[in-house]
Amino acid sequence: MSIFINRIRHEIKKRKLVVKENKSLTPNMRRVVFEGDDLADFPFLSPDDHVKLFFNTENGYEMRDYTPRAIDKIAKELVIDFAMHENGIATDWARYAKIGDTIEIGGPRGSSVVEGSEWWVLIGDETAIPAIARRLEELPNGTNVTAIIAITDPAERHEFKTNAKLNLKWIIRPESEKTNPQELLFALENTNFPEGEGYVWVACEAHVTRKIREYLLTTRKHPPKNLKASGYWVKGQMGAHEKFE
Ligand SMILES: Cc1cc2nc3c(=O)[nH]c(=O)nc-3n(C[C@H](O)[C@H](O)[C@H](O)COP(=O)(O)OP(=O)(O)OC[C@H]3O[C@@H](n4cnc5c(N)ncnc54)[C@H](O)[C@@H]3O)c2cc1C
Repeated sequence: MSIFINRIRHEIKKRKLVVKENKSLTPNMRRVVFEGDDLADFPFLSPDDHVKLFFNTENGYEMRDYTPRAIDKIAKELVIDFAMHENGIATDWARYAKIGDTIEIGGPRGSSVVEGSEWWVLIGDETAIPAIARRLEELPNGTNVTAIIAITDPAERHEFKTNAKLNLKWIIRPESEKTNPQELLFALENTNFPEGEGYVWVACEAHVTRKIREYLLTTRKHPPKNLKASGYWVKGQMGAHEKFE
């Protein structure tokens, strides 16, 4: 069996959603449940899909990328989890969103469905927790998976539901170290990759992702086709996203 990436395009659709619930999952993670009549045909194919959230600001529309964490097409509900940081348009919106508030979302534009991976390694910071949680929920029974996740406090640990064989490593580092890759690299150095063909998925701050990607490709000689590495945010830049091909 060999890994195959099935890239699926979706019709681009904008949806107007209404906030149904806004609660905290951990001190720094908020969960917003949205409802909307046109969620019935929302594509929900790959754990690292993303939608654009549109914010109407005094400087015009701003967009931010977020992971559809869960969908209930019958109840027409979509869940998005927001990692809170000091300030940002999306973060502030999620901090104060009230029941009945509305928002427009666009996408997902496409999904990359990874098929045939014998094992997985998932590396991320708090912004990657929704995609990692979704991946863990969807992995087949008994799949060997290591997840290495950086957070700022033990209270930020999440309970994951999974049927996979999960080796979970939490890295606790202060806010000021969010752009330092050292501890994640150290945990990765101490992670054995099983036999067979496996997929490594990385989503952290862009500099951290770059360093981890370099290490995987050069020191671990991991095949680039079995690696997806994204900068989910860029220190000092608003709404930034870096893709590493
Ligand atoms: C494909 C994809 C999926 C994503 N999914 C999620 C998701 O499901 N949940 C989620 O919480 N995030 C997710 N993100 C990350 C999120 O889009 C960014 O963190 C975004 O910058 C947040 O927007 P904002 O308006 O709050 O801050 P911005 O206005 O974009 O940024 C303001 C300042 O905050 C900094 N900043 C941004 N994020 C952080 C952070 N986490 N910690 C510290 N400083 C930060 C920026 O560098 C900037 O200086 C995803 C990103 C991508 C590319």
